[in-house]
Amino acid sequence: MHNRSHWLPVSQAQHPLYAGVDLGGTNIKAGLVDDMGRTLAFHTEPTHAARGPEDGAARMGQAVHTLAKLAGIATADIARVGLGTPGPQDIPAGTIVRAGNLPGWDHFPVQQRVAMHCGREVTFVNDANAAAYGEFWVGSAQKYSSLVLLTLGTGIGGGIIVGDISIDGAHSAGSECGHIIVDTSDTARMCSCGKRGHLEAYASATALKASAREALAATHSALAAHGQSAESSLALAVAAGEELTPLLISREAAAGDPLANKLILDAAKWLGGGIVTLMHTIDPEAVVLGGAMTFGGETSSVGKAFIDRVRREVRDLAIPMLATQTPIHYASLGGNAGYIGAAGRARLEHTRRPETLSNPSPRGHGKNIGS
Ligand SMILES: [Zn+2]
Repeated sequence: MHNRSHWLPVSQAQHPLYAGVDLGGTNIKAGLVDDMGRTLAFHTEPTHAARGPEDGAARMGQAVHTLAKLAGIATADIARVGLGTPGPQDIPAGTIVRAGNLPGWDHFPVQQRVAMHCGREVTFVNDANAAAYGEFWVGSAQKYSSLVLLTLGTGIGGGIIVGDISIDGAHSAGSECGHIIVDTSDTARMCSCGKRGHLEAYASATALKASAREALAATHSALAAHGQSAESSLALAVAAGEELTPLLISREAAAGDPLANKLILDAAKWLGGGIVTLMHTIDPEAVVLGGAMTFGGETSSVGKAFIDRVRREVRDLAIPMLATQTPIHYASLGGNAGYIGAAGRARLEHTRRPETLSNPSPRGHGKNIGS
């Protein structure tokens, strides 16, 4: 979306128009979309979290004005703005509670401050739920009436949509799928949240790196005990000074390194187990996987092996009726799902206001999914 040639000209847009702002620890992404979820303008800039929340809110507000300028419209022509931020947050209060990657932003009234700076009403949502709504509205889950989206990155973000309703929860912690329990043993891995045995500690990029570090250390000492040198090409790459990243592990797996392959497939196995719990709780029409830990998707050998291992685990552990009828596939909007979904949630709130309640199909794809 960085390329203007992908933008729909405003003359072809279906009004009303909505802006979506996706606040991450590293970048702010903002997009202007039309009533069909098509992007008319896009803007991104570094978050500069250390500059503090007032500075960030001012620039997010400014980003909405920038979108209007890029598209050649007035900011007042934007019906509503959607803002997605990392959790934990207090959605009714419009505040970020304590986001790990936004130090110093605790209890900041981000919804009200961004609204003040852009001069438009703001719908405040969880970033992972926004991404799920994006996939549901115009992405890989368009044809489904419910879905679970797992965004596999530094952590694991979860989004659950059921019949147009986003599961935000009583305490704004609904859909925290990264923190479901997959290992109840006393020696279970520690999660970033400080509790043991959560899915995120087994199937995120951080978890993959941690298990790779452990495996390399164990392999190294075992081989050293036998007077041998390391055999794994992953071990050789790391020994040669390459940084241990999911990308490196993926590259070595694609080149046939058994250790790299095992690490990725083990993560897939844990993920499959977590997905079964979600399927048995929600029974979604589909499960969608996004984020960096998708290894190039279904068209890459590693991406295919990863999702096939997830599916096999689901087949082994889930109630057969669900295992055979619940498709699991990769997301299609990539890093754009957040702002598109935030804009979609703004649209939902806008279309549900009393004066516009006549709109029969909030999603706008002709399917009346009810609400
Ligand atoms: Zn956790």
